[in-house]
Amino acid sequence: MDLENTLLTWLPIIFFGVVIVLLLWTIRFMPRAKPAPVVKGSQVEVSWSDVAGLDEAKKELQEVVEFLRDRKRFERLGARVPRGILLHGPPGTGKTLLAKAVASASGANFYSQSASSFVEMFAGLGAARIRKLFEEARKNAPAIIFIDELDAVGTARSGGSIHREHDQTLNQLLVELDGFNTRDEVVVMAASNRLQDLDAALLRPGRFDRQVLVSPPDVAGRESILAVHTRDKPLAADVDLSHIAKQTSGLTGADLANLCNEAAIFAGRNGAQYVRQTDFDAASERIVAGLQTRRVVSEKEKRILAYHEAGHAVMSHLVGELFPAQKATIVSRGEALGYTLNVPAEDRYLHTREEFVDLMMVFLAGRAAEQVVFGRITNGAANDLERVTHIARSMVFEYGMSEIAPSRTMRADNYALSEETKRLRDSEQARLTDQAYDEAQRLLLKHRTPLDRVADALLEKETLDRAELEALLSEVKAESRSSETVGTVRILPMRD
Ligand code: ADP
Ligand code: MG
Ligand code: ZN
Repeated sequence: MDLENTLLTWLPIIFFGVVIVLLLWTIRFMPRAKPAPVVKGSQVEVSWSDVAGLDEAKKELQEVVEFLRDRKRFERLGARVPRGILLHGPPGTGKTLLAKAVASASGANFYSQSASSFVEMFAGLGAARIRKLFEEARKNAPAIIFIDELDAVGTARSGGSIHREHDQTLNQLLVELDGFNTRDEVVVMAASNRLQDLDAALLRPGRFDRQVLVSPPDVAGRESILAVHTRDKPLAADVDLSHIAKQTSGLTGADLANLCNEAAIFAGRNGAQYVRQTDFDAASERIVAGLQTRRVVSEKEKRILAYHEAGHAVMSHLVGELFPAQKATIVSRGEALGYTLNVPAEDRYLHTREEFVDLMMVFLAGRAAEQVVFGRITNGAANDLERVTHIARSMVFEYGMSEIAPSRTMRADNYALSEETKRLRDSEQARLTDQAYDEAQRLLLKHRTPLDRVADALLEKETLDRAELEALLSEVKAESRSSETVGTVRILPMRD
């Protein structure tokens, strides 16, 4: 045999051998659907008592727990048992927490995955992950599948080719939700921040047909959340949780948990044995207005700031005690140069048109004071203006509180609106804010003396609390405007 011949027969064989080995090697390392992570519910360390407030949501979910524990009891009665439950509400309100509490109370196998883990580069892999997840949960029933942040795959399908992977994943989820038979002891829960963006098919009967609203806490809810998060902290006798709750309208459970932790850190830094009220005050200021910075403010700037904040404080006094100013300060914190904290007298859900107007005036009073006193305005009112714009927009667009169309909404996404109506709508919104601004200036001019008094006090002490403000304004009579009020407005502290 000569060498040439040998090479000619062996070379192709070696070549194909190498190719096959390489192929096998790539397949081995191709991404595949991994088994879904599972936890025994009894090992989840969240109990019902860790979830504060949210009584309605808890009650609804308790049914799910009972079903998972004793399915027969319901079936005997012919009850159709909940299968797809969607928790929806703003971020930080306790949706994930609730799902964990359900898992823990039911003891069922808990398959918890964020929907973003189904978002994949490789076509079909997200769908495969979902198939696998449901397959395993069925095998290990009773089980709970919890898909957190559902928005990542649940937003409406596009139908276009660019989003094919997303659409495939969502389709697979729909298929799995439909694929249950009545014997399966699997409950599917999901959480979403944006119910309105979800694909409508997800919400059809037999899928996520039970929707549980998880709303931000009201004042009582905030107090009980604070109680939960201070359980393990030694509190000084002067800590008043109900007072803190009143001052934190608009904060979510997550914000409040953060607040309690910050307070403990403040106390620890001072080497204290207990967490005191002052620690909570410091923490809440920090959380509300961002980190305290050492920004240098000139004397001239300070004077403008003082009048700006005094404007807010005086106006909230003038429009009645609906939006009492809790505190006014010109000490700069974070982005906000100064701020006046307004806390609604109580949490209610109905608001009159007059109250909205009053509220706009309180927000606009900072800028109005600058105009009235210095004859010029600054950029310091940006945040105030944003809020006012939002209020006026809601009044006209959503609440039918304009004169042009008192009986219908005029949302931006309403295509049925003519160009003419849109123009009217926008000018109506502008009219509302302009009128409120004019009225705010008029009232501050009329009450220039108390305005000066509060501004001077602010310049001297930099911070005025509620009692000090009340003392300064005690003999100023409110311009009783919204006397016949039905409700109040839930607002966040002002920042400018
Ligand atoms: P979401 O899932 O709605 O965004 P989370 O459940 O993740 O909110 O909440 C984050 C954290 O905030 C929780 O771990 C908990 O510490 C705290 N928290 C939120 N809501 C509540 C509540 N209702 N009661 C007690 N703590 C809460
Ligand atoms: Mg969550
Ligand atoms: Zn302001």
